[in-house]
Amino acid sequence: MVTRSTLIYLSQREGLKEFAARFRLFKKLTSRFVAGETIDEAVEAIRQINADGCTASFDHLNESVASAAETLEEVREYQRVLGAIDKTDISSNVSIKLTQFGLEIDAELAYRNARTVVDDAARRANFVRIDMEGSDVTQKTIDLFKRLRGEFGVNDVGIVLQSYLRRTFDDAQDLLKLPARIRLCKGAYNEPPEVAFPEKKDVDKNYIRVMHVLLSSGVYHGMATHDPHMIDATIDFAKREGISKEAFEFQMLYGVRRDLQRQLAKDGYNMRVYVPYGKHWYPYFMRRLAERPANIWFVLKNLLKG
Ligand SMILES: Cc1cc2nc3c(=O)[nH]c(=O)nc-3n(C[C@H](O)[C@H](O)[C@H](O)COP(=O)(O)OP(=O)(O)OC[C@H]3O[C@@H](n4cnc5c(N)ncnc54)[C@H](O)[C@@H]3O)c2cc1C
Repeated sequence: MVTRSTLIYLSQREGLKEFAARFRLFKKLTSRFVAGETIDEAVEAIRQINADGCTASFDHLNESVASAAETLEEVREYQRVLGAIDKTDISSNVSIKLTQFGLEIDAELAYRNARTVVDDAARRANFVRIDMEGSDVTQKTIDLFKRLRGEFGVNDVGIVLQSYLRRTFDDAQDLLKLPARIRLCKGAYNEPPEVAFPEKKDVDKNYIRVMHVLLSSGVYHGMATHDPHMIDATIDFAKREGISKEAFEFQMLYGVRRDLQRQLAKDGYNMRVYVPYGKHWYPYFMRRLAERPANIWFVLKNLLKG
């Protein structure tokens, strides 16, 4: 039995990433979850998503940025993405990871890089979402976000909170004072029990608790989940409290529960699809398998089909 933590562990093995990346076939199999290697391929995928009544968020995959020069290349990539969104008129914003912008090299460098992208997005009336990564960088991510939020508007830059973290309810209340646009997800990293709830039922309970606070805040937030229970709880709460469908959005990952994505859009809910693309797809792909090891069978079945 392949466990979630084994798959997350494998996602962090650089050597395996290089090994897997050499196989064209393996790359083909990832296409269910990764929109391609280039901006143009991601734009094509987003056109389809838009045609289904959903908006999108670009995510350039590259979690192994090791030098200041590489972080500048990431900034340029996101500037190209923002330009491509304007040029092609697709409906999409962008999601960034601060480690990609140098958070583990120098927090000031990450701030300058993120600021450049948020500034570019704000000038284009677009929006930058700062993804949340492992708990070793949670506080640094929040601090950097607050600094940016002090300089830019609530509709220019937003952040992500993870319901598996014990601290998240307090973080949500603190961030709402700014106010801030928050994407709520469950969390995708291996975390120790001191910082994260080990039991799924507690992660779910906390998701619902935080969702209540977010939806009641009057700020436009994103409920990122494929879990039908979380989705139903959100819809029920919104109905009960008289919160309109336009007041928030659901968010899901590219290739995951496409049926549900289309259904929610058809039902009149705002639905955003997170669209990862790029050459460094390996850790992202492995985390998707970790979330649902049944996806390994999906991948293997496709392999056998040829
Ligand atoms: C738009 C978006 C942005 C995200 N951003 C971040 C981020 O910044 N930081 C972070 O740590 N995590 C992020 N995540 C990942 C998130 O934390 C979870 O790991 C992931 O969404 C799985 O949790 P879940 O809520 O879907 O429910 P789970 O509890 O994992 O699953 C519940 C049910 O959802 C369905 N499901 C879940 N995953 C899959 C799948 N891969 N394939 C098919 N069905 C599935 C199944 O029916 C499953 O039983 C993001 C997720 C989304 C959707």
